[in-house]
Amino acid sequence: MPDVLVLVDHDGDRVSTSAYELLTAARRLGDPAAVVVGTPGIAARLREPLARHGATAVLAAESTEAAEFLVTPAVDALEAGVREAAPAAVLVSATTDGREVAARLAARLDAGLLIDAVDLDSSGVVTQIVFGGSYTVRSHVTHGTPVITVRPGAFEPEEHPGQAVERTLTLPTVDPAASARITGRRAAPAGDRPGLTEAAVVVSGGRGVGGAKGFEAVEELADALGGAVGASRAAVDAGYYPHRFQVGQTGASVSPQLYIALGISGAIQHLAGMQTSKTIVAVNKDPEAPILDLADYGVVGDLFAVAPQLTQEVAARRAVG
Ligand code: FAD
Repeated sequence: MPDVLVLVDHDGDRVSTSAYELLTAARRLGDPAAVVVGTPGIAARLREPLARHGATAVLAAESTEAAEFLVTPAVDALEAGVREAAPAAVLVSATTDGREVAARLAARLDAGLLIDAVDLDSSGVVTQIVFGGSYTVRSHVTHGTPVITVRPGAFEPEEHPGQAVERTLTLPTVDPAASARITGRRAAPAGDRPGLTEAAVVVSGGRGVGGAKGFEAVEELADALGGAVGASRAAVDAGYYPHRFQVGQTGASVSPQLYIALGISGAIQHLAGMQTSKTIVAVNKDPEAPILDLADYGVVGDLFAVAPQLTQEVAARRAVG
């Protein structure tokens, strides 16, 4: 079986769920080889959980510089992996960084790039949902090693225990002139909520929330459900909520079990980032809002009346359960 390179998202200690999803997807095409980029020692630390989720090899792309630059070390590592292993494909999570890594890699390799896959078959045919869910497209790459970004949440991560051999990738020195160097780090305010792309439940607020204060109602419902908070672009552009929580074409792509849209109209660019959610609930005071056409459950009403009742009901049921 050919190797399939998988770029592993991690925080230094823990492999992210999206990497397990990629390993699950990769098994359809060949033997998953997990590419771990980081400072020396990281691949050995993450090998066991990666092997448990089906990685047959862990390719260590370690250097002291790895943490100093934005996406370049990952692109260098994948390029080295492709040149060494001639894989059947390269899979990268469709996160903000992952999209940039994949695009740069495909350009360097002069290879075809398929973005935001929601499914993948053993012949390398990828399914994408486009134009706000209006079309389902199946495509495959006809030139070079396919580089594929996979929408977080599209695959259910499965354990597939085995042995993973560790190999070292030979990396070039990062060219600082062609790379963005990280000059400082500030921890995002810590919270108990799950990450937006990993959460089973996402509660998002839109312009209808009306302001930063209004987002408290969104957060309270998210917390009652143990979910993450998202936002529409109109909401983040207006300063109601930080940009990193934006869902949509130019924000995060999410595919949770449950997506609740509060005060979001359902513009095509928003739908592009959440329409593959398993169950969609929308609360909007306009019965003509397009999001209500997509929603599995729609509530026509004021979100400030509906969301607190939902929060209360969920909390009451949790207390009993
Ligand atoms: P609006 O469209 O203004 O909708 C607000 C809704 O709230 C309305 O339906 C209204 O009826 C309802 N409402 C108001 N008050 C209440 C209330 N009290 N209770 C209940 N309902 C209420 N958008 C994204 O979200 N993500 C993206 O990634 C993204 N990328 C884009 C990329 C490009 C290139 C472009 C051109 C646009 C992009 N957009 C994106 C913007 C997109 O087109 C919309 O402008 C945006 O999604 C609208 O956000 P909204 O639904 O919150 O606001």
